[in-house]
Amino acid sequence: MDLYIGLVLVFGGLGANMSQTSLFIGLTGGIGSGKTTVSQYLAKQGIEVLDADQISRQLTAPNGLAMDQIREVFGDTVITPENALDRDAMRTLVFSNPEVKQRLEQIIHPLVQQEMISQALRLHHSPYIIFDIPLLIESINRYRPLLNRICVVDCEPEVQIERVKKRNGLSEQTIRQILQTQASRETRLLYADDVIYNGKGISLDKLQEQAYNFHTVSYTHLRAHETEAD
Ligand code: ATP
Repeated sequence: MDLYIGLVLVFGGLGANMSQTSLFIGLTGGIGSGKTTVSQYLAKQGIEVLDADQISRQLTAPNGLAMDQIREVFGDTVITPENALDRDAMRTLVFSNPEVKQRLEQIIHPLVQQEMISQALRLHHSPYIIFDIPLLIESINRYRPLLNRICVVDCEPEVQIERVKKRNGLSEQTIRQILQTQASRETRLLYADDVIYNGKGISLDKLQEQAYNFHTVSYTHLRAHETEAD
């Protein structure tokens, strides 16, 4: 069975049960937009956050769940002696053949999604669960059916560039290249149910205030409404 259909069936089958216990909210935004700052704030409020990047790294860490498939598809040359992904070797392979990246993503993305769902199903004490997925919009068809809402941390590209320059010391050109590989600001906003604006003139305090409003007003009330409706 196609993994995606399988996951939808799993999700659908447990849907009634899950909707009583949790609301699934996708949190996304471009590089340097402020997702992590928001999700860390929400985590401090006791909200469970599932981080797609972190799960992806675990999948390719020593003996990670993706390693068998990666070995099968790409061979031993991209595997370290500890049975982890050799990132340098993989980068070289991707550089020599752009299709390799796509093939690797075809292995990793379904596993990330599967792992997020299976972790979410084990969490019962959070009024809602944040799925922190940087490339959510780029995989919208995969994730949309699984999420109750999508929250976009929105920011002008110029501000993203300044933040990432400061944080990582990357050149403007490199950051612009990364931006090119991500969904545009406009596309992201098209899919947003909720928007946290973290662009020009927004201080960290102001961002936190928005996250707080979101947490208390939007999501807690939303959760209450959903429970009432059940
Ligand atoms: P990435 O996807 O690249 O990991 P992100 O969307 O998770 O980025 P953050 O890591 O939260 O973004 O923020 C990027 C940087 O910008 C961090 O150093 C953070 O402290 C800083 N930052 C975020 N929002 C603000 C703000 N409103 N004012 C000042 N600095 C900010």
